[in-house]
Amino acid sequence: MKPSLRLTGRRLKKLIYPYLPARLKDEYESHRFAQRTRVPNTVYLETTSACNLNCVMCAAQRPATKAIKPSGYMDLGFFKRLVDEIARDLPSIEYVYLHKDGEPLLHPDIVEMIQYASSCHPNVTLVTNATLLDEPMARAILATPLQKIRFSVDGLTRDTFEKIRIQLPSNEFVRTRTDVGYNAVTANIERFLHLRQHTGNTTLNVGIRTTNFKPTSGEIDAYRAHWSAKVDYVDVATLFSWTGEIGKEQSSSREPCLSPWLSLVVSCDGKLVPCCTYIDASGHAKGALFDLNRGTLRAALTANARTALMRAHLDNDLEEVAPYCAPCRDWRDVPIPTRGRKRIFARMREVATGTTS
Ligand code: SF4
Repeated sequence: MKPSLRLTGRRLKKLIYPYLPARLKDEYESHRFAQRTRVPNTVYLETTSACNLNCVMCAAQRPATKAIKPSGYMDLGFFKRLVDEIARDLPSIEYVYLHKDGEPLLHPDIVEMIQYASSCHPNVTLVTNATLLDEPMARAILATPLQKIRFSVDGLTRDTFEKIRIQLPSNEFVRTRTDVGYNAVTANIERFLHLRQHTGNTTLNVGIRTTNFKPTSGEIDAYRAHWSAKVDYVDVATLFSWTGEIGKEQSSSREPCLSPWLSLVVSCDGKLVPCCTYIDASGHAKGALFDLNRGTLRAALTANARTALMRAHLDNDLEEVAPYCAPCRDWRDVPIPTRGRKRIFARMREVATGTTS
């Protein structure tokens, strides 16, 4: 078979790159980074904002946040329309995630959503707390072409886990009496892994993630060792700020947050929002950048509110346009490289002002 030019380019890079002088490597990396900011490469579709847990580090499921954004479920037809648009109109999208604030397995149509999205796109990830991953659900997921699943399990031990992944008495799912404890969750995961092996599903990539913060920090190495023997990858996340609700930004000198450039995040009611950790904690709804019930994802790319948000970040003038970003620390998670910054900022400005060539 004749190799494609793309493959040839990759091979060439692999051969030549290690021998390039440092200056040329920096040049190449800054060029690549600048290109990345031209169009988003990631979409988050919030299948549901409902969750059966109230984890201590998640501001999205706090009662005060829920009072402003009650639990909602994305309509299946609307979901399919967005997936169709991604496949047809947004070739830059490399990653599709099926969550934002909530637990996707609570959605009654989640298996059909997984089936549809992973049939249309080559890199779909389901993130779940695994509390609802009983045997029928595990078998149903394994029968889809889903490419990635990642379990959210904080802490290595039962004691740590159950101090973090709690269910408040006010949680709307308390009455379902689902066992959300450590033993039930890890048993669900073990069974899922066993079924994966025995159903011959060789394509699904399985990962697990813990947040690295005070209650877990002493267990991170043991967590990696324990889970890396069972799953394909172990991820350790930093503590998210959730628009400053958990740990406010203290620094007066800050960089633009890259999230608005790199991702498109659609909440379950169809609004484009700034990032996957955006929450409206004050009820001003300024982070609703575009209504996808009234327009397409492609139109959302150049929506005035989206580009205004970008310019506010570039000018570090957040208070009026994006007050929710001002106290947020999460912009630090994707740092802008130290080299080639002129080129990168110029490209970001082009996108923000609609002057991209
Ligand atoms: S600064 Fe925080 S709230 Fe604002 S876009 Fe970035 S991650 Fe989201």
